Amino acid sequence: MIIKSPKELETLRIGGAALAAIAHELAAMIRPGVNAAELDARAEALIRGAGGDPVFKGYRTAPEDPPYAGSICVSVNEEVVHGIPRAERVFRDGDLVALDIGMRHPARGGLITDMAVSVKVGAASENARRLVSVTREALDRGIAAIRPGMRMGDLGAAIQQVIENAGFGVVRELVGHGVGKELHEDPYVPNYGTPGEGIVLKKGLVIAIEPMATLGKPGVRLAADGWTWVTKDGSLAAHWEHTVVITDTGAEVLTRVV
Ligand code: MG
Repeated sequence: MIIKSPKELETLRIGGAALAAIAHELAAMIRPGVNAAELDARAEALIRGAGGDPVFKGYRTAPEDPPYAGSICVSVNEEVVHGIPRAERVFRDGDLVALDIGMRHPARGGLITDMAVSVKVGAASENARRLVSVTREALDRGIAAIRPGMRMGDLGAAIQQVIENAGFGVVRELVGHGVGKELHEDPYVPNYGTPGEGIVLKKGLVIAIEPMATLGKPGVRLAADGWTWVTKDGSLAAHWEHTVVITDTGAEVLTRVV
């Protein structure tokens, strides 16, 4: 577990604010008729324009695996995360689009922030609307519950409770993570847990918290493209993510528009 210095936190704060502004600009582009490749091209232009690198581009799960081709992940409807932004994926009225974006700042020590938002396209169903808002609430309530000295299981339980109380499924196969020097650092940050269990959240720890919730059963599987995770039962999924740092009194969101 890497504890970031005050100087590193200052650069993460600047990078996170820039990333959040880009994510919000991209989210505003999501409407019927726009395709995922257009969103990806715009994302790369905005990231490079901000002096950053799209950290997902070229990412490999294992050294022998093919590199990820996109700058962002665009996961639609039953896709949970890691959807590849293809031109054939044209957004339609009623879709639920999750946009995941990470940026490295070479000029700022190469530090990385990571975030995701879920967006309803046009007139989404009541179910989609609730799923998006409950998943967002789970992220917000998890962050609000953080105190230094709290355990990872307490955070996971806080997130899990919001999602399951609403009758939705908590994805378990995919979890949040430490972030900053690398895209994925220790520790794992599950969206479920048992209070009092797990590692202690220490001041200066930077983590990406990313609840993924499903309208139906919580099971997910990897699609044939080798990247995209989809719900096993084909039900809708939503995803929200912030990069946060544990502080003296709680947690500070680094990926927030300032
Ligand atoms: Mg992440």
